[in-house]
Amino acid sequence: MEIGQLTTDEAIALENKYGAHNYHPLPVVLDRGEGVFVWDVEGKKYFDFLSAYSAVNQGHCHPAIVDAMTEQAKRLALTSRAFFNSRLGEYEKYITEYFAFDKVLPMNSGAEAVETAIKLARKYGYEKMGVAPEKAKIIVANDNFHGRTTTIVSFSNDKDARKNFGPYTPGFESIPYNDLDALRKAVAQDNVVAYLVEPIQGEAGVNTPADDYIRKAKAICAEHKVLFIADEIQTGIARTGSLLAVCGNCTCAGHCEQQAETYTRPDILILGKALSGGAYPVSAVLADDAIMNVIKPGQHGSTFGGNPIAAAVAIAALQVVKDEKLAQNARRLGAIFRAEMIKLADEFEIVKLVRGRGLLNAVLINDTEDSSTAWDICVSLMHNGLLAKPTHGNIIRFAPPLVMTEEQLMQCIAIIKSTIASFEKK
Ligand SMILES: *Cc1c(COP(=O)(O)O)cnc(C)c1O
Repeated sequence: MEIGQLTTDEAIALENKYGAHNYHPLPVVLDRGEGVFVWDVEGKKYFDFLSAYSAVNQGHCHPAIVDAMTEQAKRLALTSRAFFNSRLGEYEKYITEYFAFDKVLPMNSGAEAVETAIKLARKYGYEKMGVAPEKAKIIVANDNFHGRTTTIVSFSNDKDARKNFGPYTPGFESIPYNDLDALRKAVAQDNVVAYLVEPIQGEAGVNTPADDYIRKAKAICAEHKVLFIADEIQTGIARTGSLLAVCGNCTCAGHCEQQAETYTRPDILILGKALSGGAYPVSAVLADDAIMNVIKPGQHGSTFGGNPIAAAVAIAALQVVKDEKLAQNARRLGAIFRAEMIKLADEFEIVKLVRGRGLLNAVLINDTEDSSTAWDICVSLMHNGLLAKPTHGNIIRFAPPLVMTEEQLMQCIAIIKSTIASFEKK
């Protein structure tokens, strides 16, 4: 069978028959991508407004990333960490300088990086903070999404993610998001080692906290000597209009440390998704020596983590973000997008609200949580040449690749407008 020779129905039938049904995709079968566009097996072209959950910030098949990947794949793909490899050190220097941390621990998927951060925080708690044996507690936020491992779903409050996967890992306590008083109370308890939080909750529907929430949350953690762990797997790498969402209003695409007023420095930073521009599973945990050095040989690892292809791809992907000023573009286009969506909300009953930052935005649909309206709108958007996906509770996330031009964005806004208009209750 040649690639791309299946019809839409045939490809869907194969996935339905032979694949586990752990996703509910829109009925489109994608075959090719370039920049902000993807094409289905029938040759129809779409604007991608999901960007693989913000993994493809640099656009599909970015030539610099593809070149780095193919060249390295031809030279050396995997050594395991039983040996040094010629690309890893160079990458570690590059990424730690880029984000201004002493050290990085390379992993592959986002969930693995979150697990790594949890292990790191616990170990630091026992060895450096005097936490009682087996008592370490990590505070998390309600409606969080940090991945799919047994431990991570243990502190999710999403029924689907959790139900019948127990027994659950203890040692987590969930508090309301965007609630500083709740955080103050939680971190005042004994044996709390960390607060693990997303600067904007992407999967929860681009749940965007008060502008000063992250900065104040970090200050509370610092006051109580509790580690502040930022999960920027979805919000990081230019998506929200700055290099990291914790950078606040800073537009620099490099060292945010200089921007003391807006930058909130996490003790542990978790990255994934766009760290490879979507080309390869690459994730990372960044921290300073005092924290990272609690991990000694044999205590944590991954066969593929830090492999030469991942190292080459991640350098290329991060360089694209700087060279093409993607944070600045996300910031500028995001403001235009939200202004246009606010007009839509004024004009049409069915659009309740728009929220987000940079090019991570969501439109809330004015209907009951269990109605299929957001899904139906997404199907209609698909027919009109734009791919977006509903999230929980009748919310549509709009997150195009950050390489989009203003002209392309205006075309997309026109598609969204006409689609929404066709749904307006008469
Ligand atoms: C996607 C995501 C993860 C999990 O990443 P995977 O690569 O799917 O394991 C964790 N945290 C956040 C905030 C995410 O968006």
